[in-house]
Amino acid sequence: MLVKFWGVRGSIPVPGPTTIKYGGNTSCVEVRCGKDIIIFDGGTGLRPLGIDLLKRGFGPDSKRSIGGGKTSMFFSHMHWDHIQGFPFFAPAFIKSNKIDIYGFKHLNVDLYQSLVGQQAFPNYPVSIFDMGGNIKFIELHGGDVIRINSTMVSTVRLNHPGGSFGYKISYMKKNLVYACDYEHFDGIDKRLLNFIKGADAIIYDAQYTPEEYYGTDDSNGRQGWGHSTWEKGVELAKSAGIKKLILFHHGHNDTEMDKIEKITKSKFKNAVAAYEGLEIKI
Ligand SMILES: [Zn+2]
Ligand SMILES: [Zn+2]
Repeated sequence: MLVKFWGVRGSIPVPGPTTIKYGGNTSCVEVRCGKDIIIFDGGTGLRPLGIDLLKRGFGPDSKRSIGGGKTSMFFSHMHWDHIQGFPFFAPAFIKSNKIDIYGFKHLNVDLYQSLVGQQAFPNYPVSIFDMGGNIKFIELHGGDVIRINSTMVSTVRLNHPGGSFGYKISYMKKNLVYACDYEHFDGIDKRLLNFIKGADAIIYDAQYTPEEYYGTDDSNGRQGWGHSTWEKGVELAKSAGIKKLILFHHGHNDTEMDKIEKITKSKFKNAVAAYEGLEIKI
């Protein structure tokens, strides 16, 4: 399993001189499992991924893919920072490209409605149905397990305003968890703990420092905003016997991220703060 990070930011893209090292694009992670490609979230990082997929000569088109692999997208939820890149996902404009989109229904809003709405007139010039690609929406429920050739993708509901889904990819006896966006509240979420137990790596929502989260930095705190901290990531990774902790959904500049990564590593050796272009073999 090869994981590549195309966008690591939370909430809003932040390009500029203070975010050069970690990158400014919002959430998008590519996971290659043999010939199959699984994409977590479609933040602005999806745009460079789409361009790269076309360059590589394969992508969400079973006819063009090497050896007939499949490409599937799994959305954690439909907040802007997780869908903004889709209107600019070049493979979706190519006729005959098959794109399977997985996600869940938000109360009475069907999975497809948020993506369709993002591109509805007058927000964007091309409707999702006119992009050209063969786009299929598959609605998930908490606890569902999806099989994509020899890869299994399991689902779990996460604490987040409006809800969010965490995913676990199981391939060749390795397990990778994508847990974003997620708020820990008090202690450890037992449902998440059971879901991730023994995984090889977890991509974890660590948007805030503990000081920001609890308001000990003279702010009003960030409790109830839907995100977690590096500290809770360490606690969860240790409790669940996770081998590697990958901090994600960043909310800080390069200098601050370096400090966050350093303190995390001092508590959990095998930790890394994700940056655009980072590749991890699992
Ligand atoms: Zn987010
Ligand atoms: Zn969110």
